[in-house]
Amino acid sequence: MNVFLLPVEVTRDIEKSIAKFWWSSSQSSSSKINWMSWERMAKHKTAGGMGFRNFRDFNIAMLGKQGWRFIINPNNLVSRLYKAKYFADSDFIHAKIGNSPSFIWRSIIQAKQLLREGIRWRIGRGDSIQVMNQPWLMEEDNPFITTNSQSLEGRTVDSFLVTGIRQWDVNQIQEHFNTRDQGFKSAYRYLQLQKGQWNIEDNSSIWNKLWRIKAPPKSLNLVWRALSQCLPTMSQLQSKHVPVQSTCPVCKSEAETIMHSLVNCPIARQCWFMVLPGQYWDVNMEFTGWIKMVFELESKSKCAEVVMVCWTIWRARNDLVWNQKYTRVTRIVAEAKQHLTQWNFAQNRLSWASLQLSVEGDGAVVWVRPVTNTVKVSVDAAVFEDRDAVGFGLIARDSDGMLIAAKSIVHPHLVSPVTAEAMAVKEALSWIDEMQWATVALESDCLVVIQAIRSSAPMRSHFGVIIEECRSFLARFHKVFYFLLNDLRIWLLIS
Ligand SMILES: [Zn+2]
Repeated sequence: MNVFLLPVEVTRDIEKSIAKFWWSSSQSSSSKINWMSWERMAKHKTAGGMGFRNFRDFNIAMLGKQGWRFIINPNNLVSRLYKAKYFADSDFIHAKIGNSPSFIWRSIIQAKQLLREGIRWRIGRGDSIQVMNQPWLMEEDNPFITTNSQSLEGRTVDSFLVTGIRQWDVNQIQEHFNTRDQGFKSAYRYLQLQKGQWNIEDNSSIWNKLWRIKAPPKSLNLVWRALSQCLPTMSQLQSKHVPVQSTCPVCKSEAETIMHSLVNCPIARQCWFMVLPGQYWDVNMEFTGWIKMVFELESKSKCAEVVMVCWTIWRARNDLVWNQKYTRVTRIVAEAKQHLTQWNFAQNRLSWASLQLSVEGDGAVVWVRPVTNTVKVSVDAAVFEDRDAVGFGLIARDSDGMLIAAKSIVHPHLVSPVTAEAMAVKEALSWIDEMQWATVALESDCLVVIQAIRSSAPMRSHFGVIIEECRSFLARFHKVFYFLLNDLRIWLLIS
């Protein structure tokens, strides 16, 4: 897959095998039914899918990596060979397939368009980059300027920089560019609106809510299946032409739809009586509408309980169908609560450890005193997906633990968590430089960032650009030492 473009049939076979495995592992009764097309399964979780990969796209993305290597390592042997043979007079981006292409070249050139769309100029002086028609914005999905203005024709990026320093001329930018190009809107939303593919208004909110619930994944998967009409109730099986009666195997009085088995069946109703007293149980609606209402009106912890109870109701139903084992209502509810409590406990053990009052030597993470006359700066980043922003917190304390200064910064642009950590370290270094403290211990909990700063490898991604800025800050200091404090935290000692 690295160098060859697999035939479409092969990628389809891979996808088929995965789908077969996924659907057969969940229910013995319906092992041969694929309840959903791969296309829907491969959608992002917030769009109602399960987030599987589209293998054709994955294959092309891997080939793109080979093309990328031609661009960034033009002097290695393979790049020189391919250049001599296939694009002697141009670069890879403008290469043509040629007269007698090898299988590998034919594969790699398929990824050219992808690279063209993904590649970005990195702004240095900015004088060689045209404002229009060149990819230089940070926006992930459309790096081209969308402002349609004649005043931008023929201008280069440096004309929007303040002379002498690496800073944008904000007034000029506001005057000439539309708000999207000013970078205030997330690329993600922009793409959604442009494509018009995902049903943002309607469904994504319920998917978002579902996947954010803190409950065991198996219970979330069950509710996902119920919402996607993929739960093998008798009625659903009938709709897939399985020769079964549609009557509910539990109460034997009504047709077993998804809403019936999880909410309206007498046993389920009694469960909801206990979990949601006096509410929602006497309803005549589809399961999607019912759960939407619960998600909207109930607290997060209640939603987790509801999802978990759905799972135990369904398991009790299966126990009856497959093992002729009857489960009492009180037990269904109690088991759900117990299960959830245990799961939460297991999830929270780590974070609890760090909140406990410290007992020396118990392994808990505590604030560590720097050596005398050293300022200690702790830094951390947070990603706010719902607000399309990232935030950084910086705090400086002396060797007695007394607060000297603190700072928080919000950056109105969503980036990956590790990029956010790198940005936080850069902000901290800039702050240290500005405050002119003599000796500083900078503490971060992101090993990846510190390792990247320490290595000398050139990185051409957005992350790499920030790392290089960190390196250039560090170059201004007199001495820099790195310490691995424990598994979680790293110090940079700067003087
Ligand atoms: Zn029933």
